[in-house]
Amino acid sequence: MIKFLDLQAVNAAHAEDLKRIAAEVIDSGWYLLGERTKIFERHLAEFLGVRHVVGVGNGLDALRLILKAYLELGVLAEGDEVIVPANTYIASILAITDNRLKPVLVEPNIHTYNLDISLVEARITPRTKAVMVVHLYGRACWSRELEAMARRHRLKIIEDNAQAIGAVYANPGESGGRKTGALGDAAGFSFYPGKNLGALGDSGAVATGDDRLAEVVRALGNYGSREKYVNDYRGLNSRTDEIQAAFLDLKLRHVEADNQRRRDIAAEYCARIRLRDLILPNAHDPDLLTPPRAQSHVWHLFVVRHPRRDLLQRHLADQGVQTMIHYPIPPHLQKAYATWGLPKGSLPITEEIANTCLSLPMWPGMTPEQVDAVIRCVNGFQP
Ligand SMILES: *Cc1c(COP(=O)(O)O)cnc(C)c1O
Repeated sequence: MIKFLDLQAVNAAHAEDLKRIAAEVIDSGWYLLGERTKIFERHLAEFLGVRHVVGVGNGLDALRLILKAYLELGVLAEGDEVIVPANTYIASILAITDNRLKPVLVEPNIHTYNLDISLVEARITPRTKAVMVVHLYGRACWSRELEAMARRHRLKIIEDNAQAIGAVYANPGESGGRKTGALGDAAGFSFYPGKNLGALGDSGAVATGDDRLAEVVRALGNYGSREKYVNDYRGLNSRTDEIQAAFLDLKLRHVEADNQRRRDIAAEYCARIRLRDLILPNAHDPDLLTPPRAQSHVWHLFVVRHPRRDLLQRHLADQGVQTMIHYPIPPHLQKAYATWGLPKGSLPITEEIANTCLSLPMWPGMTPEQVDAVIRCVNGFQP
């Protein structure tokens, strides 16, 4: 059996260190708002090249708190519009609606699965105040045009970087580049166990270069308080535990090597999977796996598409290969958003992706034999 993601194997690679760290935190008697969180925040800020990192409870809260802080700062007002890709994981949208802001769903590009930036400008209205870009599946979503557009229309750019920690975006023709999560005005991170940097429970973070935003996010995650029992805002309780911060600080040191291993697996998949009608992630972008462009993808998920996806998934399951679908029901077709009244067919590209996508096994500890077995099973599919 080849698991879609073997979390036990992922953490077994660091088991001794994780157990030692857990014992240290247990023995310390200090479990929240302590030194370990501060150290992790500083290390993550250095890793990203950004001024502030604020540890929060999870990725959804990271995005909720960014928007809530912009509301407190008067940058956003209730009812303002936030442009967001229609095919994102629902958490991006929940963060927007939870703050009584209006998500404006824009279709993704069918080749990158990321927000189609060329469609954004036409959707801007006088109430549009922000764009939430999602680096979906681990692939950086950014462009010079997006930056220029945001400047022209005075839009904040919020990054949902839950899936792409470590990805680097460089403008065409430029060397170097910047990490996702340090590209926009603020970014939300998730350290859900299955993410590329995973805690052993829930955790998340906000990254920003904006001093005031960082301060308000920190207060909002702590009951709206900067000083104990003095409440400036109506906040929430959403903080990083010391034990998770300590685990994350250790695992952060391995995230670049883990991402590189994911790239190697992705390269192997792309080079050797040969199946009629199957669309590989580099199908329309032959340089995607070649340095320096390769840095722009950290392969949180390896997503292929096939017109007979359900049959392919069943075939792989029969051969002992676990796969997943990210995501089978797009947000606009969820019951939670039935009041939008958006019928089937209203976002055809998003729906096409939902109906044909399949995520193959992908985690840094996959053995060459496991990778090879996945490839052989895919190539053996006869629809
Ligand atoms: C995982 C994820 C989130 C939410 O993070 P949690 O830590 O699970 O709350 C948000 N957006 C995207 C794109 C995600 O993949």
